Amino acid sequence: MDRFSEIKGQEIILSHLQNALRTGGVSHAYILNGAKGSGRHMLARSFSAALLCENPQRIRQPQGDPEGADPQAADPQEGDRPAGHPSSDTPDAGSWYLEPCGECLSCIQAFSGSNPDIITVGHEKENSISVGEIRRMRADVQIRPYRAAHKVYIIPDAEKMTPAAQNALLKTLEEPPSYAVLLLLADGTAGFLPTILSRCVTLPLRPVAEKAVEEVLTDRFGADPMRARLCARFSGGSIGRAALLLQNEDFASLRDRTVAFLREITKKDAAEIAAFAREAAAEDQTQDLIDFILMWNRDLLVCRSTFHTENLIFTDEVQYIIEAARSVSWRGLQAASEAVSRARRRLASNVNAELTLQMMLLELRRAFRQ
Ligand SMILES: [Zn+2]
Repeated sequence: MDRFSEIKGQEIILSHLQNALRTGGVSHAYILNGAKGSGRHMLARSFSAALLCENPQRIRQPQGDPEGADPQAADPQEGDRPAGHPSSDTPDAGSWYLEPCGECLSCIQAFSGSNPDIITVGHEKENSISVGEIRRMRADVQIRPYRAAHKVYIIPDAEKMTPAAQNALLKTLEEPPSYAVLLLLADGTAGFLPTILSRCVTLPLRPVAEKAVEEVLTDRFGADPMRARLCARFSGGSIGRAALLLQNEDFASLRDRTVAFLREITKKDAAEIAAFAREAAAEDQTQDLIDFILMWNRDLLVCRSTFHTENLIFTDEVQYIIEAARSVSWRGLQAASEAVSRARRRLASNVNAELTLQMMLLELRRAFRQ
């Protein structure tokens, strides 16, 4: 079940939506703008469930009060509040979340994806939402909600609406029925007509801090800390991407192969280097391989310059990294960093991936021998 208190790193959006729930000042249309995996769907699900819940609960925010981290810590008095009448703002409103109760019929249906008043607008073509699809939605908007005071439409990939589809949507945005709430999930707003943007509240999702991503992976997914740190580092601030990496066996296997290779790189001959580069390029893992090497270099640099090991990424290789950091020269470390930067530049200008990797690994071997 999706709860606001489980959404990390989007405090501004949470506070905006929570305020709307508390005061009843919900807008008719929101654009949740963020990259794939940034948590737009989770936000949309939590918000629509809370909006339609028959018995929304006040849950203390986990931050700032450790006791409140327990989701069971609902305020019993608030539990009896009639549906559709959110509490008035209290002085400490900012430290509470209104959460869906998870037990009423509306919540049960919401969390099983079968709430008739929460409609997800699908699209047939992968790259566009057609005017016909929006027209069908518009016809449905005219029908009053089954049970709740609101009817929520979630439009994933909203940036894929054709201009004609956007114009059709505009008609609903101009005169929405009082119960309708539209949640447009978008990856970028550049493709929206200005008239759409001006009628929606745009909520930009921020990349989540690496530390917070790491915590979600360990706390919610039970990842071991080393793996969590690595996936968080690769996630670009997206919890969704981090979770995918966590479950991705290819990613884990590349990581292990790369570490094993780097540990022995000074002893590898040209044929072994070529074979390793060929395999990574063939499996379309060039970028991940380069990123692994970048982090490996970074660990060596951190260890060499600070003699601290608590912030290393490859925490299971601490002993080796300490020894390697002692033996490699500053010049060597610098040459290694330059080799990786050069490889990135070459790839960006579309030079053959296998050759680029091969050249980079040869340069690394030379660097680590210094
Ligand atoms: Zn409920």
